[in-house]
Amino acid sequence: MRLVTFEGDRIGKVVGDSIVDLSALVPGAGTDPMIRLIERWETLRAEAEQLAGPALPLDSARLEAPVPRPGKVIAAPVNYANHKEEMKQVGDVSHLGFFLKAPSSVLRPGGTIQLPYTDRRFDNEGELALVIGRRCRHVSEAEALEVVFGYTCLLDITMRGGEDRSTRKSFDTFTPFGPWLVTPDEFGDPTDAELTCSVNGQLRQKANTGELIWGVAKLIAYYSSVMTLEPGDVISTGTPAGVAPIEAGDEVVAAVSGIGALTVGVAADYAGTCPTLGAGSGPVPPPPVPDGPAARGNASRDATGG
Ligand code: MN
Repeated sequence: MRLVTFEGDRIGKVVGDSIVDLSALVPGAGTDPMIRLIERWETLRAEAEQLAGPALPLDSARLEAPVPRPGKVIAAPVNYANHKEEMKQVGDVSHLGFFLKAPSSVLRPGGTIQLPYTDRRFDNEGELALVIGRRCRHVSEAEALEVVFGYTCLLDITMRGGEDRSTRKSFDTFTPFGPWLVTPDEFGDPTDAELTCSVNGQLRQKANTGELIWGVAKLIAYYSSVMTLEPGDVISTGTPAGVAPIEAGDEVVAAVSGIGALTVGVAADYAGTCPTLGAGSGPVPPPPVPDGPAARGNASRDATGG
């Protein structure tokens, strides 16, 4: 099943080119309706599968992020060997563990990333993400996939530099995800999904999730050994090589086989000067390549990249 949040606080399943409204299954308020659905999924699933209407055209609906305000967004740093290499990193996920992105950084599919500064570099990071299906702690790697509610595409938008990852990746709009959650039975094997990320139609990133240093099951097992995972929590699995600057006016697309494509725009409508001083430190990203997809931007941005 493909499950969406749409028009603010409605949830539905995608069937062909339509959304079948499932909102009546989870009356109430206070939390994201998708979280309420996830919490009661065992008893509601059969009904959700059977419901046939009311339906509305998918392309006329405003999609929200599948979980607009998750309790936590946990993300894997340096989880593909070729990204570790391009960033000249010594450590990877097995040394670093995870970082947290602010839940308020979530952006809906079709939304617009707002770059906050004119004098810093911001990069695309296309990733496979998953949403937790039930409260859990100390989940074994062997049982880890059983706590996954669904899979989705995520963009871990990142400011380069020496500030803490949680700062650089937590600006409002820096966590687009969607366009929907695909339940595990429909998604298939999370160790064999094709991931791509394109900017303005030009392919920047391409990987198979089998290349993850720590796969989905190991991430869940480890993260649940640190903290309780709750329904609706998001875990993003990391990005492969091909990070490069994004700029106002760009269109960024992250796609995963078995899910679909997440498309967002980029703007810098409120951008000003960065008050923190990390521009010249921290992990060193690949330079924009002459004639390559990242060969844009002004000299000052190139000089302060990294
Ligand atoms: Mn990332």
